[in-house]
Amino acid sequence: MHYDLLAIGAGSGGLSAAERAAEYGKKTAVIEANNNLGGTCVNVGCVPKKVMWFGAHLADAIKDLPAYGFDVSLKSFSWGKLVESRESYIKGINDWYINYLKDSNIDLIQGYARFIDAKTLQVGEQTYTADHIVVSPGGYPIVPDLPGAEYGITSDGFFELTEQPKRAVVVGAGYIAVELAGVLNSLGSEVSMLLRRDHFLGAFDCLLRDTLMEEMSNAGVNLMTQVSVQSVEKQDNGQLKIHCNNGIVLEDVDSLIWAIGRAPNTQNLNLASAGVHHDEQGFIPTDEFQVTNVDQVYAIGDVTNRAPLTPVAIAAGRRLSDRLFNHQPERKLDYENIPTVMFSHPPIGTIGLTEEQARAEHGDAVKIYQTSFTAMYHAIADHPQRTAMKLVCVGADEKVVGCHIIGMGADEMLQGFAVAIKMGATKKDFDNTVAIHPTSSEELVTMR
Ligand code: NDP
Repeated sequence: MHYDLLAIGAGSGGLSAAERAAEYGKKTAVIEANNNLGGTCVNVGCVPKKVMWFGAHLADAIKDLPAYGFDVSLKSFSWGKLVESRESYIKGINDWYINYLKDSNIDLIQGYARFIDAKTLQVGEQTYTADHIVVSPGGYPIVPDLPGAEYGITSDGFFELTEQPKRAVVVGAGYIAVELAGVLNSLGSEVSMLLRRDHFLGAFDCLLRDTLMEEMSNAGVNLMTQVSVQSVEKQDNGQLKIHCNNGIVLEDVDSLIWAIGRAPNTQNLNLASAGVHHDEQGFIPTDEFQVTNVDQVYAIGDVTNRAPLTPVAIAAGRRLSDRLFNHQPERKLDYENIPTVMFSHPPIGTIGLTEEQARAEHGDAVKIYQTSFTAMYHAIADHPQRTAMKLVCVGADEKVVGCHIIGMGADEMLQGFAVAIKMGATKKDFDNTVAIHPTSSEELVTMR
């Protein structure tokens, strides 16, 4: 069977490239080994995580009810019910995709793809050829190589938990570690986060990092810094004992979650047969048009190790098919100023340069505007929480090159500001915009 475009992986990247190609009337297929379509985001990533985050958000809100006049007694929380609601929602998305592919005339080929050459893929006993092949297989969570590591789970295992862990230990310092630790803590698990450095979120602006560390610690997460796991053993009672450096031992742990990064799913693709290069970790480098070192073989999404975020993969996939099949030779994704949100407690929204990056690039031309306050919602409630914001501006016209927000609503606040920043807004443009009162986001247009 010959196709105009074949995508390896029915996740955000592969589906988007295929969808757009099919819209242009091209013969297209996606190859997927998993029974459930949608990739990491839909099945073991953004979507189930956000459902858990909503659950956690409600758990936090319950604590605020008395200050708002509600006398409510909580009978119980059922982890199982939350998981059931979540999985039923995801099943709906999986099923929707199957129909969507049919309606869009996109073939679904089930199985693992292996390259035979740069134009031919093998899936099971069948071979398929294509003019254009998109490699978008996504990744998987890394488990460290240390004794007993297999007793831990990863984010994949977290989404398989049918019971709430009483005592959880999360190892890692990125998005996943922070998000899962926050969800578990808000839902009532006892949570320790093991950080091998002094802080988590090393690549984020210091205001976000420091504020979140303080808030998570205030919320009861046990942040253990400069701690590395050395080995893990199973106790007689089935719980885990975690041995760390400096003689630290954590006992009676129900769930140990490794959240130390993700690796690309490239081991079994037989990339060598197509002559496609990958780096030492298996990630596939591309040029700005998503082209690998081999013409007409492209890589999209987490496998490229560039901004591994769902909307990035979607945008790159769509633009690729626009370029290939709709006479838009310069169409490509601009990887500058990608907004991103961390569904932490409180959430973070961030875009552009951190203060540290801006100072390294622009020196004294950098001007920082910053604010920190207790949002009205929390000022009324009994459990205060800080909101903090920073604008990083550069040059005489004070172009806004970075915007960093942490606090209730940051997740929904950032998208509109991201449009302004992408358009090259200056601080004056922000100041010229009339504030919406009373909100937290009005602070972003009234900072002095
Ligand atoms: P990240 O790469 O974000 O973070 C992993 C961090 O864990 C590292 O940066 C490192 O931080 C720390 N680490 C690495 N190895 C070890 C180790 N052996 N022991 C202890 N700590 C270690 O990976 P994630 O898995 O959290 O997320 C992967 C990607 O998925 C993210 O980069 C993000 O793009 C995406 N994602 C996005 C989300 C969103 O948009 N909301 C949500 C979830 C994921 P340090 O060096 O400081 O110790």
